[in-house]
Amino acid sequence: MSDSPHCMRCGKTPSKIAEYAFPAKDFGISRDEYVRREEGTYNPDNNLFACTDCYTELGCPSSPTRRGWRAGDPIVGTLR
Ligand SMILES: [Zn+2]
Repeated sequence: MSDSPHCMRCGKTPSKIAEYAFPAKDFGISRDEYVRREEGTYNPDNNLFACTDCYTELGCPSSPTRRGWRAGDPIVGTLR
């Protein structure tokens, strides 16, 4: 549990982000585990994700690749 994922921009770990509390509880897993399994921006290569606030601030980046945009990917094709 020493290697919690953290947000690429604000550095928060899932335990600091309230919105993950209920879904993680529903799955019966920790918030860290929830982010690893369900957060679409989670990048296992660098253990980063983008929390909702930061994802929005970054302009909701999308990716031309099928797997979608992940934290640490170049930000291209934003809505701004
Ligand atoms: Zn963040």
